[in-house]
Amino acid sequence: MAEPVLEIDNLSVRFNLKRGVLRAVDGVSLSVGKGETFGLVGESGSGKTVTARSIMRLIKTPPGEIAGGTVRFEGRDIYQMSDAEIREIRGQHIAMIFQEPMTALNPVFTVGNQIGDALRTNMGLSKAEARERSIEMLQLVGIPSPAARIDNYVHEFSGGMRQRVMLAMAMSCDPTFLIADEPTTALDVTIQAVILELITSMIERFDMSLLFITHNLGVVAHACDNVGVMYASHLVEMGTKAEIFSNPQHPYTKGLLRSIPRMDAQEKFLTPINGTVCNMMDPPQGCKFHPRCEHTMDVCKERIPEFRELSPGHFAACHLHDQPTV
Ligand code: SF4
Repeated sequence: MAEPVLEIDNLSVRFNLKRGVLRAVDGVSLSVGKGETFGLVGESGSGKTVTARSIMRLIKTPPGEIAGGTVRFEGRDIYQMSDAEIREIRGQHIAMIFQEPMTALNPVFTVGNQIGDALRTNMGLSKAEARERSIEMLQLVGIPSPAARIDNYVHEFSGGMRQRVMLAMAMSCDPTFLIADEPTTALDVTIQAVILELITSMIERFDMSLLFITHNLGVVAHACDNVGVMYASHLVEMGTKAEIFSNPQHPYTKGLLRSIPRMDAQEKFLTPINGTVCNMMDPPQGCKFHPRCEHTMDVCKERIPEFRELSPGHFAACHLHDQPTV
């Protein structure tokens, strides 16, 4: 197994709201090795994005709060770092791209100014050097005529081209780790495939690690080595891509797999998962998936299942895998 670059151990994040406490992430542990790609999958509201933002220490406090656990990057505890240290990590070591590029890119500056600014601040380049490197990066991500487009504003680019610009900005300071939070969700299907291909080729080219957040298992199948499935703030299954796709062990993962279109499928229709994600202000007792699960037992309504290793590297949290008591 590759040397771990990112290690999340028992992370819990909550939001103290007027209406009550929202436990957005509850006891999540995962690790991403050097050069590995990890896909974190789940429906909206499962806690994927909060997990990603916690890595970058981007949770607004208050109302947010890291309620427990650690995040280590290259062996260093992110939560023990000074503000200057975490700024250095964000600029030079971990980069993040988002679903909607307009939230990350500033509409009142040219893209050249924005990429160049990051290069001057984080890498100490001169204005001319930063401009040259920005053009190189735009070319690398497939922006046509980069020397001319560098002086354009964000609104002069299409959605797919904006995502390329954001990728150029993220990669410009040679980070070793990329967090991609639903980077293809807002794009047309045809452009999604192109951007996905671009991200995976950049990861390989720069020998980076990737944490890919998505609700789409089809995307994970294309881009990731390992997969974690989140449901209602918990990690419910984790393993290699091959294990998750060929031997899923959690009813939620099985439901997700049944609900994606497959070229080799025998059935004519997709099977949705019953019901909707629970209200996280008032989640059900026991296994949070039990109101939607077709295998619910009494114990499921009482106790949260343990996240246990079922075979080397393959974990799931489900009472169906409890050892019989003698
Ligand atoms: Fe279903 Fe029970 Fe397993 Fe939860 S613990 S997924 S309710 S069988």
